[in-house]
Amino acid sequence: MEAPAVPPPDDRAACRVCLEPIRRGASKCTKCDSFQDWRRVFSINTVVLTLIVALISVISATVPVLKEALTPHRSDVRISILEIGPDAITVVVSNLGNRAAILKRTSLRVQHAGTETNFALQWNRTSLAPAIQPGTLQLISFYPQSSDANVPPPTGGTDCRYQLSLDVIAFDHRALTVTTSSPCPHTKP
Ligand SMILES: [Zn+2]
Repeated sequence: MEAPAVPPPDDRAACRVCLEPIRRGASKCTKCDSFQDWRRVFSINTVVLTLIVALISVISATVPVLKEALTPHRSDVRISILEIGPDAITVVVSNLGNRAAILKRTSLRVQHAGTETNFALQWNRTSLAPAIQPGTLQLISFYPQSSDANVPPPTGGTDCRYQLSLDVIAFDHRALTVTTSSPCPHTKP
């Protein structure tokens, strides 16, 4: 005699997935192969988990690309006068941007006792156009020259200011002028 395919009513329970009668306490349904214990929840979550992991890896791969695309490529040049010596002006030039910039021309305007004198500045470099790399700073010494002769700018006294302008070619080829000003150095007695 063959064993009954369907268990007797007392020993039956409905499958949690397909509702077919299966043996009470069975860990797996004989009809649809679904787990009846804790693995039933886990097997569903495995799919969800796989999707989440896939999504996270896609997002983490995309974020740097998006960040790179959204970050503007530019140079951000700042200058400040470090020292005004008897024959040279030393400035700190820094580039806070993420692309290099090129120094083009520097000029100095000295306001002294109600008069203004403009000086062309030459940097102490053999390079025609110093490049300021991103994330770096450079000390550059400039030598003031008037248009006709070497004339040192006035020093000392009240009502005296130095205004230094730096023409910069930015990475995106925009021409920028960066300026800084400083009180004139006091002449030693
Ligand atoms: Zn089932």
